[in-house]
Amino acid sequence: MSVPTSISGFPRIGRNRELKKIIEAYWKGNASLDDVRRVGAELRESHWKLEQAAGIDLIPSNDFSLYDQMLDTAILLNVIPSRYRRLGFDNPEETLFAMARGYQGERGDVTALPMKKWFTTNYHYLVPEFDVSTEVKLGSTKPFDEYTEAKEKLGIETKPVLIGPYTFLKLARTTDAQELTIDEGLIDAVAGVYAQVVSRFIPLGAQWIQFDEPSLVMDKTEADIKLFKSLYSRILPARQGRIRILLNTYFGNIADVYETVNLFAFDGVGLDLVEGREENLAAVDRYGVAEATTLFAGVVNGRNIWRNDYARSIALVQALRQTTDKVAVASACSLLHVPFSTAGEEQLGQDVLRHLAFALEKLEEVRQIADLVDLNDDALKASDILKANQLLFDGSRVARDQEVADRVAALGQEDFTRHPARAERQKLQHETLELPPLPTTTIGSFPQTREVRAERARLRKGEISQDQYDEFIRNQIDEVIRHQEQIGLDVLVHGEFERNDMVEYFGQNLNGFLFTKNAWVQSYGTRCVKPPLVWGDVSRARPITVQWSSYAQSRTSKPMKGMLTGPVTILNWSWPREDITHEEQTQQLALAIRDEVLDLEAAGIPVIQIDEAALREKLPLRRSDWHAKYLDWAIPAFRLVHSAVKPTTQIHTHMCYSEFNDIIEDIDAMDADVISFEASRGDLVVLDAIHDARFETEAGPGVYDIHSPRVPSTEELVARLGEILDKMDVSKVWVNPDCGLKTRGNEETWPSLERMVEATKIVRERL
Ligand code: GLN
Ligand code: ZN
Repeated sequence: MSVPTSISGFPRIGRNRELKKIIEAYWKGNASLDDVRRVGAELRESHWKLEQAAGIDLIPSNDFSLYDQMLDTAILLNVIPSRYRRLGFDNPEETLFAMARGYQGERGDVTALPMKKWFTTNYHYLVPEFDVSTEVKLGSTKPFDEYTEAKEKLGIETKPVLIGPYTFLKLARTTDAQELTIDEGLIDAVAGVYAQVVSRFIPLGAQWIQFDEPSLVMDKTEADIKLFKSLYSRILPARQGRIRILLNTYFGNIADVYETVNLFAFDGVGLDLVEGREENLAAVDRYGVAEATTLFAGVVNGRNIWRNDYARSIALVQALRQTTDKVAVASACSLLHVPFSTAGEEQLGQDVLRHLAFALEKLEEVRQIADLVDLNDDALKASDILKANQLLFDGSRVARDQEVADRVAALGQEDFTRHPARAERQKLQHETLELPPLPTTTIGSFPQTREVRAERARLRKGEISQDQYDEFIRNQIDEVIRHQEQIGLDVLVHGEFERNDMVEYFGQNLNGFLFTKNAWVQSYGTRCVKPPLVWGDVSRARPITVQWSSYAQSRTSKPMKGMLTGPVTILNWSWPREDITHEEQTQQLALAIRDEVLDLEAAGIPVIQIDEAALREKLPLRRSDWHAKYLDWAIPAFRLVHSAVKPTTQIHTHMCYSEFNDIIEDIDAMDADVISFEASRGDLVVLDAIHDARFETEAGPGVYDIHSPRVPSTEELVARLGEILDKMDVSKVWVNPDCGLKTRGNEETWPSLERMVEATKIVRERL
């Protein structure tokens, strides 16, 4: 028998984002629920057929979702908070969308479930919520319906995929966002539903069922291991020898629990051989593989867009075969995280295209690798497929830019060190900038109105000239400066009207970046992102923001803050290369942004903000890796960007979250003069951390939430500032909103800022 092939999941949004379009049309009232159901069924059918045609043996079902697979799992387990039940919808989809997006209408007014990033990806899942009324029981037939749909309508045998009980319980929360207290009753109830699901698939004829347990790659306590055991010792007997269970893991290694997993003798165990390679291989080597178990070798990366190196994948499969001959070839994780297909990207040119593999192309890779590992040595050597593949990895993909390489090679400790020490700089800056105590500022962008977006579209379509567009932007800048002066802000910004995106805009002005037409990836719900590709060595092609910032500074006597995206964020929101390390790519980016920083300084911009909104995103899943595998180079890369500025030039950074209590020293080590961050929602424990760590960076914890159109009252802003001043030294406090204002309207933005300034004045009086 040939080597079996499997993928963990396939993108559901559709080749041309059909699912996004129909669901958004439905939300706007331009399509019916039946239209949504019909398009969903068409997408499933087309995806199953593509997977079958590509030679995938274990084709996933139930990987489709109208919004999010974690939300589907919550509904499957009947974990639907009562506030959504009370809305009393007739159609389950309506309840689902209310949980996903909130609901405001004649039936009531409820907010959405919170959303969180799915491990280290840019995908966001909805956090299941247990409330007092939660009664765990089988709550939907979705997995059975989709399995039967494939089988009866198309004659395709599929492998139902579910988020496993361990991951579900680890990620679910209580109504006040706390981890669940997991007692025997809860374990029984949850395991009971999963056992029921397994049993119900037996008469339907399913051969395999896949439980995704990515939480197993995280650090675990004794209690966690016990939980895992309790769950699966209750679920596995439901197989009755008539259906097979694949325990699927990804985004890292499960070495610390592998021995336990192995004792359970699952029918299949999925191992990530991309992200957890060394540790997983060592564990298999050490503990062996149960007689009954097939190892699913996750060799095809589900999180990059590059072609697979077949020689390397074959070697990995062979390594496992030292221990067992039962090996299947699989994707390392769901293909949800890559775009649909490279077809349609011909504008990139064949030289580029042949190096790319999106979801559809990865299906073919899985099949080809499985076929290759079946060949004997001679046949393998003679394989044209292998030869063609290896040509992609002969080092000729892209010429190195010698200048960039030399620049990186020449970097020394001094390039990562800014002088003089921060305390001294801060003193000089206070003198030259002449700012009042509690200086007020904003995070950079102002509302990107319909008018601004329309003007950009007209430029793109050639309806207006570049000069006309620039004139329009200058007018926007004039207006936003006048307004900021009027309400009395201290450090002004130009408003970022010229950019629609904080990564693409920079990428377009950097050598080494490429852009696709249609390579969309689901970010959450119907939202998709289209990250640029890092293709070659990166350097700055031309000054990027200098003309706008210096124009803005010429229009005011107040200090203007220049606005840049930092190197770590640019890399984290792009497709990085794999032939050089992330560290090296980040250094190249840091040097490019450093050039921009120095040009801004030379143009007379006294304050420069370098946003690192995505810094925390790629923090490794295991704490022991945080420094060695990430922070030890990510933090210095930021210092490299600004180390050469004058002591009087004030460097700001911004982050969109306040959960950095656990890396507070690292944030301080970025050596920025000022940081602003999102802090208006949730408690202010971060301020305790700032206090305890003797945080040197001046800080502006956001004083109001910009994600909502609500205008805060002056009193609540005064109170908020009071809370901040209770914990922080007044000489280090800045006053600003949570984040950029580009998604807001002018109607709420200006009154909010006016009150922010007013509140600051009241508090200053009392100092
Ligand atoms: N300067 C950016 C803005 O104001 C920051 C965006 C962000 O933090 N995501 O829009
Ligand atoms: Zn932000």
